[in-house]
Amino acid sequence: MSPAPHRPDPHRFDAARIDGIAQSDIRLQSRKCAEVGGVNLGQGICDQPTPDVVKAAAKAAIDDDQSIYTKYEGIDALRVAIAGKMADYNGLPCDPDSEVLVTAGSTGGFVAATLSFIDPGDEVILFSPFYGYHFNVLRMAQPVIKSVTLRGDDFAFDPDELAAAFSDKTKAIVINTPGNPSGKVFTRDELALIADLCVRHDALAITDEIYEYILYDGHEHVSLATLPGMRERTITLSGFSKTYNMTGWRLGYAVAPEPLTRRMGVIADLLYICAPSPLQHGVLAAFDLPPAYYSQLLADYDRKRALTMAACDAVGLRSLRPQGSYYLMVDVRGAGFASDREAADALLERCGVAAVPGSSFYIDPADGATQLRICFAKQDHDLERACEGLRRLGAVRS
Ligand code: GLN
Repeated sequence: MSPAPHRPDPHRFDAARIDGIAQSDIRLQSRKCAEVGGVNLGQGICDQPTPDVVKAAAKAAIDDDQSIYTKYEGIDALRVAIAGKMADYNGLPCDPDSEVLVTAGSTGGFVAATLSFIDPGDEVILFSPFYGYHFNVLRMAQPVIKSVTLRGDDFAFDPDELAAAFSDKTKAIVINTPGNPSGKVFTRDELALIADLCVRHDALAITDEIYEYILYDGHEHVSLATLPGMRERTITLSGFSKTYNMTGWRLGYAVAPEPLTRRMGVIADLLYICAPSPLQHGVLAAFDLPPAYYSQLLADYDRKRALTMAACDAVGLRSLRPQGSYYLMVDVRGAGFASDREAADALLERCGVAAVPGSSFYIDPADGATQLRICFAKQDHDLERACEGLRRLGAVRS
């Protein structure tokens, strides 16, 4: 008999830095959903139409051959527009030349910030449940990640737990408000507690505010950088994906003091040179959209949230009421499921609806093992089809 063929370990070339990092559940569920032709309430795709004026401006920029690299920090006009928005909406005036960096999605900004400022062994504080890309991008820089869990109906944190998470090794804290997947909108008082600890420990704050326009029930968006002592130590990340339905355009931005922006810009340049040039020109048109655009956005999401919550509640998937963003966290036990993965599989098979298992939003998967994240950033007809599907879950169960 010939000897068994030698099978080398296919992972023998892997960098230790990426140990344990695999395709995200967010993407995995999208692939599974496409296989069965289901409605994807998993990945926050936001597949509603991009505003016509923005599409027209991007087409014009392509026709006008705006096809070459831009400055790594982005085109001047876009940085000026972003600085205007930061002053008006966020209450954070900034210099468009030295304090604004246009990035390839807010993820581009987060990666640049992580690589620019986080060393192996640094401590970084992250609230759970977290956006998995924050957690996994950080992991590539090999810090010690300390998690502070948001609990209860309003996803509050325990101030003592947060204070205890800070140490003289704390390099940074990551905040995401409005939050993915929690829908939590940090209050000014909560942010003041965080600011106080950052100042006391001379820590950097990286705040991802990509859902800043999607708020419910009178919740107010507060940018951490506007709090006393925070401007000089805060990187504010945002982008256009969620507000203007252009997740695939990959356009975001970072706002931070000049030394931080410069460093991140150099790194962003090495990663991807610049954000797509014609799309930078195109998105300029978004700044001319009237206030009615934003009130319509809120009204639409409020309706979609109510529809989705009602469909979930009807089959025992009790949801926590999101304060912002466009995700629901539901508890799967009321619908008779023992685990998040069992529930996610059943939803896909029986209802044709994809959702993301809750365990992917926590360091200890057990913490989210009875939760699912459901995204309601869908066109009404898709959302209605998904809600119909969810109702079948009740029929099968009873
Ligand atoms: N932010 C979106 C989500 O959480 C999509 C991002 C992604 O595909 N990774 O689903």
